[in-house]
Amino acid sequence: MVKVGIPRGLYYYKFSTLWESFFTELGAEIVISDKTNKNILLEGANNCVSEACLPIKAYYGHVINLLGKADFIFLPRFTSISKKQYICPEVAGVQDMIRNSIKLMPRIIDTEINLRKSEKNSWLAAQYTGEFITKDKQKIKNAYKNALEAYRNERQVMKSGMLTDEFKQEIGSMPLRVIQKRSTNITVAVLGHCYTVYDSFINMELMRKLRDYGIGIVTLDMLDYRESKEKCRELDKMLFWDYGTRAYGGSIQLIENGGIDGVIAITSFGCGVDSFVIELVEKKIREESDIPFMKLVLDEHSAETGFCTRLEAFVDMIVRRVTHENNVSSYR
Ligand code: SF4
Repeated sequence: MVKVGIPRGLYYYKFSTLWESFFTELGAEIVISDKTNKNILLEGANNCVSEACLPIKAYYGHVINLLGKADFIFLPRFTSISKKQYICPEVAGVQDMIRNSIKLMPRIIDTEINLRKSEKNSWLAAQYTGEFITKDKQKIKNAYKNALEAYRNERQVMKSGMLTDEFKQEIGSMPLRVIQKRSTNITVAVLGHCYTVYDSFINMELMRKLRDYGIGIVTLDMLDYRESKEKCRELDKMLFWDYGTRAYGGSIQLIENGGIDGVIAITSFGCGVDSFVIELVEKKIREESDIPFMKLVLDEHSAETGFCTRLEAFVDMIVRRVTHENNVSSYR
């Protein structure tokens, strides 16, 4: 049986269900790299250029973690995952960086995902990928159809405020937003790329910490993407980055829908996309709402103590606001 290694990094946190369903139905055995840990990050940072952001370094570490365990490593090249929207060049170029810097790589399945012109191109990507495992076109077609259905179902579940199994394992067994034993009546939106929001090692267990405070969480996956795109039309020009549309349009939805007591944006040091997008989001939230906003910047040197102190201070502040709103606030 052909073994396909999948690094647990970058867009794995969005498309894991689709990829796993697809390869399994084609008859491949899937090997997922271990959860991100200190060693994976260290190996990644040691083998990657120092200018790269934290998620790219972690991705390197995940690829190294798979060496010797699989016949192929699946390294999709993401250019665009929605019409007229683009993915960061570091994600688009990471296969080439890896190919040229990690020795003894097994064969790479280097499918390009480019839905810039039409979402129909995803079938071409599936066909290209499937042919590494089988030449049976009908089998590939069926596997793709079923994988897409599983993915769409998962997205629907996430929109309803729940996390699916994989993510539940990452951050604990309780679904987000629907939290039992809540000690507060507070909900916080966590904005960030899927690979920072759902990788609990990279984000220093932010989600678990918030959950332990009894705080409900909303992520961008729980908001409607089409609506986010519509909301972005207020800008003079549509945002170039897919994440920008999700984050900016999502923040407008959060402001308009209400019910959010704070926004935490998690970003990686050196992220070009976020340096622009998070500024726009912060400006929007500060100018058009009184929702407290905090930005947490992560890199491989981030110390958990400082991170926890800032988080505790933020949580204390929003708890005080919610319980003593009649007092004169100092938050603006
Ligand atoms: S968008 Fe930012 S965090 Fe994501 S891969 Fe690109 S540089 Fe890194």
